[in-house]
Amino acid sequence: MKVRTRFAPSPTGRMHVGNLRTALYAYLIAKHAGGDFILRIEDTDQERYVEGAVDIIYKTLKDTGLEHDEGPDKDGGVGPYVQSERVKQGIYMKYARQLIDKGEAYYCFCTPERLESLKKEVVDENGEKKVVSIYDKHCLHLSKEEIEANLKAGKPYVIRQNNPTTGTTTFHDEIYGDITVDNSELDDMILIKSDGYPTYNFANVVDDHLMGITHVVRGNEYLSSSPKYNRLYEAFGWEVPKYIHCPLITNEEHQKLSKRSGHSSFEDLVEQGYLPDAIVNFVALLGWSPEDNQEIMNLPELIEKFDYHHINKSPAVFDTTKLKWMNGEYIKKMDPAAFYQEAKPYIDKAVTRDCDKEKIAGLVQSRIEIFPDIAGLVDFFEEVPEYETSLYVNKKNKCTEENSLELLKSVLPILKDQDDFSNDALFATLKSFAKENGYKVGFVMWPLRTALSGKQTTPGGATQIMEILGKDESLKRIEAGIEKLENK
Ligand code: GLU
Repeated sequence: MKVRTRFAPSPTGRMHVGNLRTALYAYLIAKHAGGDFILRIEDTDQERYVEGAVDIIYKTLKDTGLEHDEGPDKDGGVGPYVQSERVKQGIYMKYARQLIDKGEAYYCFCTPERLESLKKEVVDENGEKKVVSIYDKHCLHLSKEEIEANLKAGKPYVIRQNNPTTGTTTFHDEIYGDITVDNSELDDMILIKSDGYPTYNFANVVDDHLMGITHVVRGNEYLSSSPKYNRLYEAFGWEVPKYIHCPLITNEEHQKLSKRSGHSSFEDLVEQGYLPDAIVNFVALLGWSPEDNQEIMNLPELIEKFDYHHINKSPAVFDTTKLKWMNGEYIKKMDPAAFYQEAKPYIDKAVTRDCDKEKIAGLVQSRIEIFPDIAGLVDFFEEVPEYETSLYVNKKNKCTEENSLELLKSVLPILKDQDDFSNDALFATLKSFAKENGYKVGFVMWPLRTALSGKQTTPGGATQIMEILGKDESLKRIEAGIEKLENK
């Protein structure tokens, strides 16, 4: 049987890292097995719907390379792929009525006030407090006549699942194993809401079945509801798909990754200067690792290596230091022209003078982890910062403030005579100057680079910096360095 997985996001805003991981794992499971990856838009919760969020979903899938085989824009014969359109076709109501006929579901006309009185506070599987209300089956006992009369009178109603109150239900999760719950804990959850829309709880089962989904991948917040989903499959007589619940993702403080952490969505991370490919690689390792422990993997490599049996149960920590490192590795591997395109806005912002920005990009490509690192590395091209003359002192190159001053004074006229300010030509000139005077090259370059940059470390050496700054600006800076050392 062909493997079919789906990504079923709700259009509620930016793409949370946890959702991106669900999409990625579902994609990898399908592609690893040569199967299909389906996109389904779960927009039945009208209150949470955010304008423009569907576009974000498409854009994120495109930017991350997770191309779907079927979806609202690619018909595969089991559509529509948007739940609100499926509502209009009466799909969920049809199946809810089938359950009512089988005694597996029932109409409930309880008022909000009555339901309010059934609420109580509990702690969920992630240790968080939440309010639940276990329905007391009040409306299960209505007579046929009462139900008819209520419906006729236009009383608002929901349709609830009719779960047993005794015995146990067991279901199997590929990651968490067999899980058994007491049926007394199973709430008669709502399948169809009073607005006629299905709940996620019902729609996911109906759609996963009708769309031929073989592996259901989702976050572990759905684990506790899965016995109820299993009962629905059984009530319909449908085959239960394989469940793959992914572990919780926490921040470094081991708290659930929240919007407030500032890096909880794909879009946040891109804005912070991370590359989509690096984000995908990083997210793949949030709860999974290949047997050989390789860390840098592009999408084709992930497809090849991904084996869902190795997904972990324990929470995955979002380690920003690791993401930064990984991003740096991806930046190093970028084609220089592509890197320049990405880096240019950051360089332009830090360096407004007219100079060869592509050469600056070439100097920083191997030295940054994220794009915003660029500013701090290249700011001296704009202006030499305030610096102490002690910066000229360097043990390794035997530079002191005194001999640096002498050196700069003797090199200045040579550079004034130099017409070709290319890196190669400058290097050749300074190398022969060093040789003639019996100096080491480093002894010549250190004071120059200090005067040119005012910094202890720079991307690129003195001659590379001079090439970018050009003759006039370079000479100006060296003269300023001489003045600084003379007047200290
Ligand atoms: N619509 C659900 C969500 O966005 C999907 C959960 C699932 O993957 O089944 O959380």
